[in-house]
Amino acid sequence: MKGKLLLVGFGPGSEKHITERAKEALQESDYVIGYKTYVELIADFIEGKEVISTGMSEEVSRAQAAVKYAEQGKKVAVISSGDAGVYGMAGLVYEVLVEKGWREADGVEVEIIPGISAINSCASLLGAPVMHDACTISLSDHLTPWELIEKRIDAVGAADFVIALYNPKSGKRTRQIVEAQRILLKYRSPDTPVGLVKSAYRDREQVILTTLADMLEHDIGMLTTVIIGNSTTFIYDNKMITPRGYQRKYTLTSEKQPLRPHERLKRENEPWALHEGKEEAPPLFELGMKALRLLDKEKDIPAKEVTFPKLIESIFEVAVSPGVANKKFSAQQLLVLSAVAGEEGSVEYTPHHQIILRVPTENPQQLTLQLQEAGFIISPVGDVLAIKACDFCDGEKKDAIPYAEELQERLGGMELPKELNIGINGCGMACYQAVNDDIGIVFRKGKFDLFLGAKPVGRTAHAGQPVAEGIEPAQIVPLIERIVAEYKEKGHPNERLFKFFKRVKNIQGFEYRNMEPKIMIEPAPCGD
Ligand code: SAH
Repeated sequence: MKGKLLLVGFGPGSEKHITERAKEALQESDYVIGYKTYVELIADFIEGKEVISTGMSEEVSRAQAAVKYAEQGKKVAVISSGDAGVYGMAGLVYEVLVEKGWREADGVEVEIIPGISAINSCASLLGAPVMHDACTISLSDHLTPWELIEKRIDAVGAADFVIALYNPKSGKRTRQIVEAQRILLKYRSPDTPVGLVKSAYRDREQVILTTLADMLEHDIGMLTTVIIGNSTTFIYDNKMITPRGYQRKYTLTSEKQPLRPHERLKRENEPWALHEGKEEAPPLFELGMKALRLLDKEKDIPAKEVTFPKLIESIFEVAVSPGVANKKFSAQQLLVLSAVAGEEGSVEYTPHHQIILRVPTENPQQLTLQLQEAGFIISPVGDVLAIKACDFCDGEKKDAIPYAEELQERLGGMELPKELNIGINGCGMACYQAVNDDIGIVFRKGKFDLFLGAKPVGRTAHAGQPVAEGIEPAQIVPLIERIVAEYKEKGHPNERLFKFFKRVKNIQGFEYRNMEPKIMIEPAPCGD
C-alpha cells in the first residue's frame, strides 16, 4: 500500500476554526507528527493515534520522519498551526521529498489541507486591518539572513503595505522587532495603528491596539502576531480598520463618509474597485514602483525623499450656487470657481441648478473659505436636502424669498435617507417646476400651496400630490421642518420621499393618494 502525507494546518487553535477536512485528515492518519504544543492543542482529535511530538526547532527531523513513515506505507499527518504553507511544514516536507527524487506520479501521495493563517485570525480580532495590499514577514532569522529581512521591511514600508509580522520576538531574539520599528518609522507616522494579537482563539488570547511609536511598550512574544497598518489605517471604537482604497471623499458634513451599500463599487466613489473595461493603473502600483526604483538607486534613502502626496489627499466634493434666489454668477465668482478647481479638479453643471466642484486636496477647509468669501452658497452633495428656488422674476415677485432663505438656513444640506429637493416658486406659474420636486412650495396670493411626494425621475414620473392650499406664511417653515423631521426619522435608507409617503400613507396629517400614471410599462433597461 502507498503511504500518504497529509499536511494539516489546524488554524489558530480553537476547535471551531479547524476545517472539516483537517479533522477528517487527522482521523484518517496512522501517525500524527508535530511540535509538542500543537499536538496538545488538537489532542481531542487524535486520540488513539501514534503521536510523534518534537521540540520547536526540530522541523527538519519532523519532516524527515514523516517522509520515512509515508514511504513505509503509512498515512502521516504533519501538523502546523495556522496554514501549513505559511512558515509551516508544507515546504519543508516537499524539500525532503525533492531531495529524494520524489515525483507525484509514482511517489507517496501528498495532500495539503489549508488552514486559517495568523494574519487572518489575528486580523479578525482587531477589526479589518488587512483589507488592502498586505504582506507577511517573519522576523525569525533562524533560517533567513537578517540583511534580507531588513531589506524586505524597508521595501514594504516604503510601498505602504499593511504588514503582519510573524515570529516577532522570542526569549533570545529581541533586537529584530526594535529594528523593524526603526525602519518602518522612516516611512510611516508614529501614530500608525498597530495591533498585537497573542494566542488568537486560544485560552490566553490577548488583543492590544497601539501605535507604531508605542508598540514596544507592550508584551510581544513568540505567540504574538504584530499587524501594522498602512498610511490610511485608522482606529474606530477599538477596531483597527484599513479602508478599501486610498481616495476618500470629503464632503461638508463629515470628513470620513462611510459609503452606503448602494454607493459602493461605483467608479466615482471607489475608483480602485474593479470595473469593466480598461482599468487605470492604481496609484499604489506606481507608488510601489517608485519606492522600488528609489531602493535600487540608493540603499539608504532619507525618509523625506519618499513622499506620499496622492495618498492622503482626498476628493473634496461640494455643491455651489450663487444664491437661493439669485441665479447669476458674477465674473469674479467664475474666476474663484476656476481657481479653486485648478488643473486637477472638475466643475460639473447638474440638472439641479448647481455647480458641483470636485477637487483633490488636503485642505478642504481652505477651499470652503474661499468659496464662501466669494458669496457662494455651498452645500454637501449626496443624500442631503437641497433648496431649489426660482429667481422670483429677478426679484419682482420677491415676497417669498425670505421664506426660501430661511428654509435654506435651517434645512439646507441636512443628511437624509435619500436626496430631497424642496422647490419654492414665487407665483402660481411655478415655472421652475416646484410641483415636480420632492416637496413643492408655491407662493400664490400671499399664501403657500404645498405639494408632496413627486416622483421626479423615471418613466413613471409624476408631479407631487397637492396636499394643502393657502397655508399662512408664518406656518410654512415650521410645517416643512416637521415633514422633513418625520422623513428623516422614519424613512428607510435610500427611500425617496415619494416611496416613503406611499409606504406610511400619512405624513403630518396629509393622506397619501396614488399619483402614479395608470399605464403598464416594461421596466427601463437602466432600472426605474
Ligand atoms: N503556520 C502559521 C505560522 C507559524 S510561524 C500560520 O499560518 O499562522 C509562528 C508565528 O505565527 C508566531 O510567532 C505568531 O507570530 C504567529 N501565530 C501563529 N498562531 C497564532 C495565534 N493563534 N495567535 C497569534 N499569532 C499566531
